[in-house]
Amino acid sequence: MTSSPDLAARRAVAQREIERHADRPLPGTWRLVRLDDLPAIAPTCDQDHRGRAPIHPGVDGLYDCCPQPWIRVGILTVADLLLALLNHPFAVPDPAPGAPEAVSDDPTGAWN
Ligand SMILES: [Zn+2]
Repeated sequence: MTSSPDLAARRAVAQREIERHADRPLPGTWRLVRLDDLPAIAPTCDQDHRGRAPIHPGVDGLYDCCPQPWIRVGILTVADLLLALLNHPFAVPDPAPGAPEAVSDDPTGAWN
C-alpha cells in the first residue's frame, strides 16, 4: 500500500474484480440506480428501458436485461463518489507548469 494511491490503477483493478464476480466483461461505465429503496450502482445497460415496469417495488432503473453486479451503497453521496471514481479515468498529470526550461536568459551570453 502506497501513501500516494494510483487511482487509475486501482480503478482498473476494481473493474477487473467486479468482472470476475460477474463472470463476464462489463461495459466499464456505471450508473446510479435504486435497490431495496437505497442508492445503488450498476453497470451501464445498453437496452432501452423506456416504458418498462419496475421489476420489483423499491427497485428503480434495473431490469432483467441489466448486467450485474448491482451494488447497494446506501448513501447517495458515497454512490456519487463511487460513480465518479469508476466512470472517469484519471488523466496522467502533466509535468509541473513553470518548470525551468533548458534555455539561458543570461543577457551576457556567458552561459550560452
Ligand atoms: Zn437493462
